[in-house]
Amino acid sequence: MESTTKETEKQCVLCCQEIDIFALGKCDHPVCYRCSTKMRVLCEQKYCAVCREELDKVVFVKKLEVFSSLPYQNFPCDKKHDIYFKDERIYAQYRHLLLPECIHCPEPKVFSRFEELEQHMRKQHELFSCKLCSKHLKIFSYERKWYTRKELFCDERYLDNDELLKHLRRDHYFCHFCDADGSQEYYCDYRYLSEHFRESHYLCEEGRCATEQFTHAFRSEIDYKAHKAAAHSKNRAEARQNRQIDLQFNYAPRQQRRNDVKTMKSKNPGDEDDFPVLGATAALPM
Ligand SMILES: [Zn+2]
Ligand SMILES: [Zn+2]
Ligand SMILES: [Zn+2]
Ligand SMILES: [Zn+2]
Ligand SMILES: [Zn+2]
Ligand SMILES: [Zn+2]
Repeated sequence: MESTTKETEKQCVLCCQEIDIFALGKCDHPVCYRCSTKMRVLCEQKYCAVCREELDKVVFVKKLEVFSSLPYQNFPCDKKHDIYFKDERIYAQYRHLLLPECIHCPEPKVFSRFEELEQHMRKQHELFSCKLCSKHLKIFSYERKWYTRKELFCDERYLDNDELLKHLRRDHYFCHFCDADGSQEYYCDYRYLSEHFRESHYLCEEGRCATEQFTHAFRSEIDYKAHKAAAHSKNRAEARQNRQIDLQFNYAPRQQRRNDVKTMKSKNPGDEDDFPVLGATAALPM
């Protein structure tokens, strides 16, 4: 099929699915209404995922238009989340998106609260939700995983903290940097984890890295720059810079070793005053 501008616009930059209802703010960067709802309602984030501008309001429309041309003041709206709907049908679809629904019943069954769906799943299908995921994962109820009694061990697995961690690591995304620092944050999908990488760490989104997972996130600026130079440098100057970064990496420990030797030497009585600033981490120009 031939790809046109219209078709690229029709794909959501966040979930890569075709957009049936557009969510649009003042910066005119459309995403699909599911992603927008997830961000604004479930994650309570109001910024644009493309340019990061804070969007005090968004409009949900079927046909893409310029935001400033939309008379949203007259549209039905969800005041709490500042979402305006071009028509009642879109509004209904939005409300439906947020309702807990059983997708195992032959006839879709809708509930007003998640607890009711949980009860239904338990009674009718003998399926159980993960208590932790239900509490912490910001996802729609139709995206939630249901486990059999055997898989869940009647909630007993969660009495054991190690088992819980194993489950979270296997079933959910987490930041390996923060995890190493002892913080335990989990993300409902890679999109939100990459938001975290971008915000709290260093994320490379150049070329091939734009579609990578995990391997394009870096803990320190130096790691990030080294990667940029190694993976994405196009010319000699950049390659040279790449080598310089390599040198910095190689020199640090060597210099450290030399300092250690000196520190040892300075242990001789009388020498100490000659090396007043030498410490384990001091790097003197040699
Ligand atoms: Zn989307
Ligand atoms: Zn934007
Ligand atoms: Zn059911
Ligand atoms: Zn879980
Ligand atoms: Zn992190
Ligand atoms: Zn990269």
